[in-house]
Amino acid sequence: MKSISVFRDYRENEVVFSQGDAGDCAYIIESGRIQISIRKNDEDFPVSVLGEGDIFGEMAILEGLPRAATAIALEPTRLCLISQDQLFQRIQNADPVVRLLVQILIHRTRSMNKNLGRKVSDEEVAIDDSQSKKGHRGREAIDQVKFEAELHKAFGEKEFRMHYQPIVDLRTFEVRGFEALIRWDSPTLGRMRPDIFMKVAEESSLIIPLGRWIQQQSIEDLQRFQNETGEDLFMSINVSGRQFTDPHYVEDLEATRARIGIPADRIKLEVTEKIFLNGSIAIKTIEKCRELGFQISLDDFGTGYSSLSYLKELVVDNLKVDQSFTRTVLGDKRSDSLVRCILNLSQDLGIKSVGEGIEDLQMALHLQKLGCDYGQGYYFAKPDAIDKILELLKSKSLKRAS
Ligand code: C2E
Ligand code: CA
Ligand code: CA
Repeated sequence: MKSISVFRDYRENEVVFSQGDAGDCAYIIESGRIQISIRKNDEDFPVSVLGEGDIFGEMAILEGLPRAATAIALEPTRLCLISQDQLFQRIQNADPVVRLLVQILIHRTRSMNKNLGRKVSDEEVAIDDSQSKKGHRGREAIDQVKFEAELHKAFGEKEFRMHYQPIVDLRTFEVRGFEALIRWDSPTLGRMRPDIFMKVAEESSLIIPLGRWIQQQSIEDLQRFQNETGEDLFMSINVSGRQFTDPHYVEDLEATRARIGIPADRIKLEVTEKIFLNGSIAIKTIEKCRELGFQISLDDFGTGYSSLSYLKELVVDNLKVDQSFTRTVLGDKRSDSLVRCILNLSQDLGIKSVGEGIEDLQMALHLQKLGCDYGQGYYFAKPDAIDKILELLKSKSLKRAS
């Protein structure tokens, strides 16, 4: 990083930088006043006078272009210098949409300054505008905003559906509950992958109403599963970290559960290790849910960087062994050792284990032998709409333990 002294003093009429200079830092005015002007046809056009606390000189840095204006001290002035790295890193780390908006704003301001005192044709404006959206990252950010809009529309038009995948007791192969999995068949885009569109929903405010709808629908459907089978079943609902930061999350969940009349311990909230990125608020909310009797399931266990330390931070009731382990448990000795290790650990901690992605009998029997409590996977049933799953349960055509 280039080192520069933090403060610099300027005399009256001293030039801070001139139009066309290379931009290497931005400034905050500690005291005094700065005039910004633009030179056009050998004539100076003052565009603004800035005072204490104002920032200037940032445009050239953010765009990586020469100075588009001249800055002169109007009186003895003290400036605080901000390095290129300080600003540039922040913009690079920002949300891609925010980054794009900043770039567009800067580009527009520059264009306005360039055209000062000159009439501009509509065509020129259109060409100029499209320039600012060029580039791979700009395109990506625009696509994301468009996709977010599609998701909002789909929610408004009730295009989302819930599917349910049975979770069985691995000793008996009897269905004990389900995992609720969202589906979106867009009339224009076709079937969309939930891991992809839920990630986008999580990055926008849509996750709050959408997550609420998922919970409501899944708990209502659990009641139907219970009524129609006469069995005491549970529902596992995937909850994203962002939902736990909603101040109304707990009261909404509790009100929905009470209204539908399902005991809290029949509802499992599936969380991944990513919730730790949402800070202590999310963890506190999860703890509150657990105090109310809801069960907590740690999903995709073993795929993160520090799954073990998370088990120390958060008390959970269930642990789902990720598909990447179960899929290879038969052919790969290392996977087998890891799965044994995870299952022993969960037994020691009094946590129920769920093996995900079970695709054949051999895999089911192997996990059964290792002491895994529950199983879920295409071998037992694929996720499907409630009517189809009810048909399957009633026809008793599910696999049986021999
Ligand atoms: P996940 O929570 O790990 O869900 C399990 C995924 O494995 C599901 O994919 C399920 O269909 C699939 N699966 C189940 N059994 C088998 C099997 O035997 N073999 C194979 N190859 N796959 C199996 P799906 O439904 O495409 O969901 C993908 C991810 O999208 C989920 O992963 C979850 O992270 C997210 N997701 C789905 N529904 C929701 C939701 O309602 N809310 C939230 N926040 N995320 C959801
Ligand atoms: Ca899950
Ligand atoms: Ca999973």
